[in-house]
Amino acid sequence: MPNAKTNPRRRVIEIKPIVDPDAKVYPRSINGYFQRWRWAFIWLTQLVFYGLCWLPWNGRQAVLFDLDTRRFYLFDLVLWPQDAIYLAILLALSALALFLFTAVAGRLWCGYTCPQTVYTEMFLWLEKLVEGERPKRMKLDAAPWSVHKLAVKTAKHTLWIALALWTGLTFVGYFTPIRDLTHGIVELSLGPWEVFWVLFYGAATYGNAGFMREHMCKYICPYAQFQFVMFDRDTLNITYDRQRGEPRGPRRKIADPRAEGLGDCVDCSICVQVCPTGIDIRNGLQLECIGCAACIDACDQVMDKMEYPRGLIRYSTENAVDESLSRSEIIRRAARPRTLLYLAVFLAVSTATAWSLLNRVPLKVSVIRDRAVLSREAPDGSIENVFSLQLTNASEQARTYRVHVAGLPGLRLEKAHEIEAPPAGLGKAVLVLKVDPEAASAGAHPIQITVEDIADASVRKTEKASFWMP
Ligand code: SF4
Ligand code: SF4
Repeated sequence: MPNAKTNPRRRVIEIKPIVDPDAKVYPRSINGYFQRWRWAFIWLTQLVFYGLCWLPWNGRQAVLFDLDTRRFYLFDLVLWPQDAIYLAILLALSALALFLFTAVAGRLWCGYTCPQTVYTEMFLWLEKLVEGERPKRMKLDAAPWSVHKLAVKTAKHTLWIALALWTGLTFVGYFTPIRDLTHGIVELSLGPWEVFWVLFYGAATYGNAGFMREHMCKYICPYAQFQFVMFDRDTLNITYDRQRGEPRGPRRKIADPRAEGLGDCVDCSICVQVCPTGIDIRNGLQLECIGCAACIDACDQVMDKMEYPRGLIRYSTENAVDESLSRSEIIRRAARPRTLLYLAVFLAVSTATAWSLLNRVPLKVSVIRDRAVLSREAPDGSIENVFSLQLTNASEQARTYRVHVAGLPGLRLEKAHEIEAPPAGLGKAVLVLKVDPEAASAGAHPIQITVEDIADASVRKTEKASFWMP
């Protein structure tokens, strides 16, 4: 029978009851090493999110998923719906990266970059700015309604709504050019769908970051529910060192805890007060822990004041705690078969995708046979097959293409074709192909239709087709 030691997941998913899981959480502010990292990630991700849609590139928006024209612009890259494979690969790579980071270091994504925690942190920052620190916020919520309370709450919600609407506008700005959107707002000329989506995403941000907060992580996010499958005994997690901390209890700073039969935990509860999900990490790793490391910073400050070594709560692994592993041994165990496999697959897929994108020919060719007539005899006695040709110029320069045909002796075009296609646009032509009647037997014969840019022979594509002989 597996026990807690041989079956690591059993220990990980054990959930200790907390006092009231639905009580409103008032996280106390905390500064420290990990909180600086969290804010660095918040600044980085939000500068990219709010700023990238304003970046001009080749006379248009650098990143734009233009649903109207069904073209996706990523800097120099122009992707069409036929390139949806790259989107699928991007999603697969994101999933692989998530598996890899989760297996190595637990809920890094949740704690540092997940939009839910990032926006919650930003909304919380505004809340503290207007309502004050934790005791003031608790007092204000408990107080009866008054002019002062109404004014403070109005100020907070005004700031929240402004940030939420800006977020909604920015999000929609990746699908409709952001400058058109803002002009539309100034001139009150936005279409109903644009208004709807800006309000929809604004309301989602306001609701999730202002009210749902940790409930989203606890009850709705599917990743929170299945991430433990990726954990093992060598996964880094926020861990309370029970052996060192217990028995917990208050004491004077000058007291010798061992002489008083105490561990290093002074039972100050600051690690609980700073927790954005309102849990007590001393009860063991719990589903509700989003890995924000606020409790590490909080406890380290308490340890500093008590002049005890830092790290009573720290990033560690179950094996490290049980076997007292050194930091270098913990790092060495990060490279284990499961993580190496994730890394190898991630590197292989990303390298192949990068190679494919770098060598991508910015031309797509579609050849469709004329459905009305398979083949016919022309007045000059030759046999004709008719095809519709559609070109997609996936670059941002206007191009002119020439068509060549091959595959049968004497196969030729009725007339030479030079097909023009505008930047990121389409070119069309009807091709009439001819051969002499004695060139091939009756039936279908494979042929090749090649389209080549007149100015750049490296931009060429060959499509296969069949030529029917009567
Ligand atoms: S237990 Fe610690 S790491 Fe987990 S959510 Fe609470 S404060 Fe963040
Ligand atoms: S902050 Fe540290 S010392 Fe204070 S209760 Fe939490 S674990 Fe114990």
